[in-house]
Amino acid sequence: MNDFLISVVVPCYNEAENIPVLINRLKLALAAYSFEIILVNDGSTDTQQELELASTLDSRVSYLSFSRNFGHQAALKAGIDHAQGDCIVTLDADMQKPPEIIPEMIILWQKGNEIVTAVSKNEGQPGRFKRWTSAWFYRMLTWLAEHPIVQHGADFRLFDQKVANVIRGISGQNLYLRGIFAWAGYTQATVFYREEKRMAGTTKYSLIKMLNLASNGITSLSIKPLRMALAMGVGFAFLATVYGMYAITIVFLGMTVPGWASLVASIVFLSSIQLIVLGVIGEYIGKIYREVSQRPTYLISKTNLDLSQTYQQVD
Ligand code: UDP
Ligand code: MG
Repeated sequence: MNDFLISVVVPCYNEAENIPVLINRLKLALAAYSFEIILVNDGSTDTQQELELASTLDSRVSYLSFSRNFGHQAALKAGIDHAQGDCIVTLDADMQKPPEIIPEMIILWQKGNEIVTAVSKNEGQPGRFKRWTSAWFYRMLTWLAEHPIVQHGADFRLFDQKVANVIRGISGQNLYLRGIFAWAGYTQATVFYREEKRMAGTTKYSLIKMLNLASNGITSLSIKPLRMALAMGVGFAFLATVYGMYAITIVFLGMTVPGWASLVASIVFLSSIQLIVLGVIGEYIGKIYREVSQRPTYLISKTNLDLSQTYQQVD
């Protein structure tokens, strides 16, 4: 047996059917190690009993239950906050990402890599829409990001406790952990896996949740959108000046023509640009507002963990 502890953090949102299989596969995959499994119940309607049962059957399994659905990223953060391990693995509950590759990730960690990201070779078998939108999203993110993002790395990752401490120190409601891992630096490595089909249930990432994550991804990674808005404003101001001069000239030359179409087109175009720019600014202001209101990232309503032993959010 090795003398280090591995914490496996699994966010669960209505994953009752997947939990027994998940735990069995984790136990088999990690048989050679000391480990703890922290299941985070993100406001599920069906999962609580399953979690309580799993934790009574095996003392290495514990659960944290939220008072409502706070989202996948908040669930990851809660698990990380309360993990005791020397290294922490984050994994989905739906068996799309095979726990069997965790030992390979542990070896890379032992070799000195502080963050090991698992990258899917085949992008699972999600629908074409999801594959397409995610490919475009990553392309845009890479372009916008101020730090390199591991492409196609979902939140299946192993990282050292010192990286966990960085995450524990970050509070807020606009978490985008992939961005934080990219920003944090450290020695990073990747492993590859074949994504399987979701075992039971359907995706818990609705379109709204995906859009929300995408917006957090962009706005938490950089302020480039704001700079683009400014650049666009300057560009259009220049064009407007040129056009204004042209208009004045033709008035003086007595060549005024009925310019209804160009007038309407430019008003519609410019006002839509203004609305977009205002929207971008509003998005950031909204996030600032939420951060200054300093509400906690999540609320725990039930757990079998002794919370006094673990990291507490300092909000
Ligand atoms: N999840 C969560 N809260 C949510 C949405 C998802 O905890 O609001 C969990 C979900 O139970 C799963 C993981 O996040 O363990 C990834 O979600 P899912 O597999 O539905 O996403 P997909 O693989 O379809 O992108
Ligand atoms: Mg999934």
